[in-house]
Amino acid sequence: MSGWVRIAGLGPGAEALVTPEVQAALAEATDVVGYIPYVRRVAPRPDLRLHESDNRVEIDRARHALEMASEGRRVVVVSSGDPGVFAMASAVFEAVEDGPAAWRALEIGVLPGITAMLAAAARAGAPLGHDFCAINLSDNLKPWALIEKRLRLAAEADFAMAFYNPRSKSRPEGFARTLEVLREGCEPSRVIIFARAVSTPDEALRVTTLAEATPEMADMRTAVLVGSSATRVINRPEGAPFVYTPRSVPA
Ligand code: SAH
Repeated sequence: MSGWVRIAGLGPGAEALVTPEVQAALAEATDVVGYIPYVRRVAPRPDLRLHESDNRVEIDRARHALEMASEGRRVVVVSSGDPGVFAMASAVFEAVEDGPAAWRALEIGVLPGITAMLAAAARAGAPLGHDFCAINLSDNLKPWALIEKRLRLAAEADFAMAFYNPRSKSRPEGFARTLEVLREGCEPSRVIIFARAVSTPDEALRVTTLAEATPEMADMRTAVLVGSSATRVINRPEGAPFVYTPRSVPA
């Protein structure tokens, strides 16, 4: 039987948010490869080999998946959320580009998942309803100066913004700096949403303003959404408000 690699997104956490396409790929797989907490989300079976690896070895993990597929195995590489958003799909293609020519002939497919910013936005209402951008705040794979430049320009362009990896262990001060940069370019009343562990039992949503936001409101399980200058908050008698960004910007 010929092997394949499917790079699959497991969604933000809840079983109900794993797509049927991803479930079908896992059911056909002989091997699952990925970062430890993501592999642990896959139900074990006697005929399924689970290969857990540390977060820092993405390219090795991708090569391992491609090698196994070349030997005829059916390999699912798992990411949380969507595999194309700050995740394994790019690592697999990087490995293909630099690897043996035979890898280019392999059956390789990307199976989308619900990415954290969309799960978080849905909980809050529709804060990403107009133009927005997504920025990974971890400086593990890029210089901090580039992150700051993109933050400044995103604020200037008046995009709503979604931040992933808001606090990396190697740079705990990064998110404090992010808030400072935003305060230079946005008004204090700008809406900011901290969405933690969306769709898991630990889920917590906090809607606040840039003036009130503090670095401790974010951790590695939090997606942070910043509204544009047009983003609105609808307060309700109880519970979190609805946050939305209108569909149109007046001429
Ligand atoms: N590929 C993933 C992102 C990986 S980066 C995706 O598409 O969602 C990891 C970051 O995603 C975390 O630091 C956090 O910012 C965000 N994240 C992942 N799962 C989340 C969840 N359930 N709730 C909130 N944020 C989440």
